[in-house]
Amino acid sequence: MMEQGYFYRDTWAEVDLDAIKENVQSIKRILPNEVQFIAVVKANAYGHGAVQVAQTALQAGATYLAVAFLDEALALREQGIDAPILVLGASRPRDVSVAAQHHVTLTAFRTDWFTEAQQFLEKNQVLNVHVKIDTGMGRIGIRDKEEVKAICDFVKKDSRFFLEGVFTHFATADELDDNYLRGQHQRFLEILSVFKEKPKLIHCSNSAATLRFPFALFNGVRVGIAMYGLTPSREMEPLLPFELKEAFSLHSQLVHVKKLQKGEKVSYGATYETGEKEWIGTVPIGYADGWIRRLQGQEVIVEGKRTKIVGRICMDQCMINLPHALPVGTKVTLIGKQQDENISCNEIAQKLETINYEIPCIISNRVPRVYMRSGKMVELQNPLLHNDH
Ligand SMILES: *Cc1c(COP(=O)(O)O)cnc(C)c1O
Repeated sequence: MMEQGYFYRDTWAEVDLDAIKENVQSIKRILPNEVQFIAVVKANAYGHGAVQVAQTALQAGATYLAVAFLDEALALREQGIDAPILVLGASRPRDVSVAAQHHVTLTAFRTDWFTEAQQFLEKNQVLNVHVKIDTGMGRIGIRDKEEVKAICDFVKKDSRFFLEGVFTHFATADELDDNYLRGQHQRFLEILSVFKEKPKLIHCSNSAATLRFPFALFNGVRVGIAMYGLTPSREMEPLLPFELKEAFSLHSQLVHVKKLQKGEKVSYGATYETGEKEWIGTVPIGYADGWIRRLQGQEVIVEGKRTKIVGRICMDQCMINLPHALPVGTKVTLIGKQQDENISCNEIAQKLETINYEIPCIISNRVPRVYMRSGKMVELQNPLLHNDH
């Protein structure tokens, strides 16, 4: 066991690295051999832990990593990750030298970005670049062929820029109606025809498109949510070619248990009133952990059975209804399996009227992450405490 660090609170998130590995392997199995698996680990791997997920994905056959910002890429480099990393978002021209120095691939989508970036690259530096095409997402990317031509000409003249890849991003890959996606794909093909020499890596599919549209694979896919075992949308669930395994779970323990008489109140605003004599348990998780106030009334699992959060959720604590007296230290599962019960990220997303992507992302770094392999803890990350205590 390579246990690192410690935590002194009774709340933690578990990340099942075996699930991530299996998800990567299952997805790779439906991909032709030449298709590179780009593991999307932005936003601390959707809250799962960027380094641990990156290592696991690479071991399972991913060949490239992707993040949103240069800082995220550099953080991975600091942790000793030496696989290729693509920054998907916009980077500043003045930061190209740092990117080149750390072998980080940047996304570019403006001719003037290149002319400005040129001034910041050292004489012997080489920067890997992927050109982003906007085929209908309307976010970042080149929309017209002339600009693509201009960039190709520019890169030909300055050998410090290596145009390694070209990509686009679908806006509706997780929706049942695939008309818009097919239009985007068509526009992408048209723009690709402008390249005299095709870049080495051509990619446009996120998780949803990777799982559904073999015609859009080209030779790379950017997989985020499916790697974490979550389905990109509810409509897509029946279309999944295999089962995905959720990697993220969230747990706590009772820190106080008390019996309240009929008509007593619980939490801020005194909005909850006990009907009969009730056992109430206090759970040390609150909105500052990302367990936000809108989750009032949400069910949690205790002793393998569902029970409810009662009263308002506080910054660091919330209260739940207990079926009977339970000892302090009893496990409370907020997301994930406990015995035969399961609360998925989807259920929490539905309660919050949002998408499952948001759920692990908003569990803050105040919640330590415990990494599991073969049911055993292999690593522990508590961003609050860097030193031994
Ligand atoms: C986040 C992101 C992805 C990953 O999307 P998933 O739906 O999580 O697979 C792929 N490409 C780009 C450009 C992204 O920003």
